Amino acid sequence: MKYYDKLIFELSRKGRCGYSLPDSPYQETTAAIPENLRRGTEPALPEVSELDVVRHYTNLSDMNFGVDTGFYPLGSCTMKYNPKINEEIASMPGFKGIHPLQPASTVQGALRLYRDLCKALSVVTGMAEFTLNPFAGAHGELTGLMIMRRYHISRGDTGRVKVIVPDSAHGTNPASAAVCGLEVVQVKSTADGTIDVEDLKPLLDNTVAGIMMTNPNTLGLFESRIREIADLVHGCGGLLYYDGANMNPLLGVVRPGDMGFDIMHLNLHKTFSTPHGGGGPGAGPVGVAEHLAAYLPVPSVCENSDGSLYVQGNACGYATVSAESIPAGQISGFTGNFGVLLRAYAYILMLGRQNIKMAGPLAVLGANYIKESLKDFYRLPIDTVCKHEFVFDGLADRSTGVTTLDVAKRLLDYGFHAPTIYFPLLFHQSIMIEPTETESKETLDGFIDIMKRIAQEALTEPESLKTAPHTTPVRRLDETSAARQPVLTFRMLSSLN
Ligand SMILES: *Cc1c(COP(=O)(O)O)cnc(C)c1O
Repeated sequence: MKYYDKLIFELSRKGRCGYSLPDSPYQETTAAIPENLRRGTEPALPEVSELDVVRHYTNLSDMNFGVDTGFYPLGSCTMKYNPKINEEIASMPGFKGIHPLQPASTVQGALRLYRDLCKALSVVTGMAEFTLNPFAGAHGELTGLMIMRRYHISRGDTGRVKVIVPDSAHGTNPASAAVCGLEVVQVKSTADGTIDVEDLKPLLDNTVAGIMMTNPNTLGLFESRIREIADLVHGCGGLLYYDGANMNPLLGVVRPGDMGFDIMHLNLHKTFSTPHGGGGPGAGPVGVAEHLAAYLPVPSVCENSDGSLYVQGNACGYATVSAESIPAGQISGFTGNFGVLLRAYAYILMLGRQNIKMAGPLAVLGANYIKESLKDFYRLPIDTVCKHEFVFDGLADRSTGVTTLDVAKRLLDYGFHAPTIYFPLLFHQSIMIEPTETESKETLDGFIDIMKRIAQEALTEPESLKTAPHTTPVRRLDETSAARQPVLTFRMLSSLN
């Protein structure tokens, strides 16, 4: 252990100080706080010099892995490109300092941005209207399903309680449906990894609210029978929901609206460039076809006849949400996660209509290049052209007992983040790889070399894989105990040893 791996509390020395502040102009304000609400003792904060603090945080950041550190080929929930200029734009005072309760006349630019981003997303997706209010992909799913449910109920069609979800779906799909009070019915995939239309047909009746699909699906495969599926589902009175968390393979190529989808969400924090992790920050805008526009939640940004903008609907914090409260109900505080919306807007404008079309082909090219280069070393259960991602089912040669988890841990020793593992659940040893559209050929080649080397090591020195990682700040963790008995309070290092 290095000296500066110590926790900041252990570096603390009484009286040491890293800052000096001018006399507070707020003495009177402090006096106005009632005695019983004031703390009696000073908080036990570490007392350290400026250098100690800077080194502490710099070293902490070194212990972590991120897209700024190295290649991050996580499938499905991918961290894609996060241009730094977005950060600069998001921290411009005119954006950073505004408040949702300001009079609309003082935030016309921000409201214009909201409207323009809705329009841009409509162009990209083929949906008629958007709300930018939901805070995450799963939050968008819930909003979309509430719209679906409300649509049926408002037409007196009250028996539609089922949502069809493919067995390859992202876990949030069935979860959102359950939270919305809908019953989840699974539709099987065929051996080629796409929806089994013959399995779907008997499920379709007047109890079906709709189907949730991802296309390309989580195996990275395009559901080429989508028009037929759309006709079948619409034919029984159901709606089609599109999970657009990862839209990059489709940008400028195909639009969910043209495929026949009625409702969709996007993850701006994946496809449209906001760095995220540990649960946020995010934005999960929901788009709908024309006939569902009236069901979008409030608040919404509207235009006066003179071109000025205003916020319509209860914009003051949260309201209780139920499936019945949409339309006119509220799904989130105010009009969404503005910093994330801003980054998406900047990203779309920076790429422009022409360049945005490059994202899809490049994402697809990179994924196929890795797949073809590694398929002799890792099992490829579905050997066909993939879209932006694909799935291996563990090592080709498993004779030494090396698992997908061991491969993932070993990658960390070589400076690569692991792909998504053990998802989708269709295979026992899933390794789901998505390189994204922005990695160079050299980086992809580096990753391919290391994946081959690891496959070799699995045969010649399996122990070094089973005990990996060896070079990271923490070694292999007991993930079960970490989840079941987490240690959440500070303990001195001595007592940890
Ligand atoms: C990430 C993801 C989601 C959920 O998005 P969150 O913002 O994490 O709630 C849903 N579907 C797919 C396919 C995803 O990749």
